[in-house]
Amino acid sequence: MSKRRDFLKKIGISSSLLSLGFIGSCSDSKNVSSNSQAQLPLFISTWNNHKANSTAFNTLKEGGTVLDAIESGIHVPENDPNDTSVGYGGRPDRDGYVTLDACMMSSDGNAGSVTFMSGFKNPISVARKVMENTPHVMLSGIGAEDFALQEGFEKINLLTDDSARALEEWSVKSKYAPKINAERHDTIGMLGIDAHGDLAGGCSTSGLAYKMRGRVGDSPIIGAGLYVDNEIGAATATGLGELIMKTVGSFLVVELMRNGLSPQEACKTAVKRIASRYNVDDSQVGFIAVNKNGAFGGYSLRSGFQYVVNKSPQTELFDSSYLL
Ligand code: ASP
Repeated sequence: MSKRRDFLKKIGISSSLLSLGFIGSCSDSKNVSSNSQAQLPLFISTWNNHKANSTAFNTLKEGGTVLDAIESGIHVPENDPNDTSVGYGGRPDRDGYVTLDACMMSSDGNAGSVTFMSGFKNPISVARKVMENTPHVMLSGIGAEDFALQEGFEKINLLTDDSARALEEWSVKSKYAPKINAERHDTIGMLGIDAHGDLAGGCSTSGLAYKMRGRVGDSPIIGAGLYVDNEIGAATATGLGELIMKTVGSFLVVELMRNGLSPQEACKTAVKRIASRYNVDDSQVGFIAVNKNGAFGGYSLRSGFQYVVNKSPQTELFDSSYLL
């Protein structure tokens, strides 16, 4: 375990390697048709999480496992106070509490998750500890917090001045509308595949801004916000968690790939399923997926969803294709 800590420290020191990354852009259709002959390793993340992806790529390059890589990558938005959808600086619930959700899955099919957890900057790492150090998959609320303390994580106040101010402004109208519109938000779901074709994934979020206290979204739910099957592929989701949970979205995408669909077609089919069953007015949902060969894709309900891919230290940004 200490070997891993040393390793992550090393990654921190070499963070200047991030500057190797750049943001490119190309059409989704180009991506879909050109990635059947995949170059590995590969990382793909929701939204423009380019620093997270470059960090993951470099962690792998420096000898970490694909799981180490994903954990280190997801730390980037979790630690960023300006990222208001993940970790420290995440928007609070309507009572002023920042509560975080996260999960991880490894190539051996193991899974760990924390939900409704306050006071810890890196829920992804606590989720990993749940996976590796307990006989359980999910710890929630006070139990997750007690476990994080036992594991040596530092308790901090996650509510930044900026988030407190934003809550005050929101409280003037207190209009509770648990919808996610097409605007950008930054929940990170990251999938990785190493040079041997082994897959892993992680997902971390502060969930819907001004949600009801106790609300948990799709992001920490294995099968909804994330699913990894090392024989087939992996998928992760962002957007209105309620829609993703009701359709077990990420599991659905992986099962569609099992039935022969490409990652892109699988994401599209899952989005269509959601749109055909539920009222999706003002909602956004986006999926990304990668298969065992390293082909990848993404698809969303509406325009505006983006994802980033690294097949080298350089990051490519894709505008997702969309349904509506
Ligand atoms: N899926 C997340 C949730 O519902 C939110 C997001 O992706 O922005 O909690």
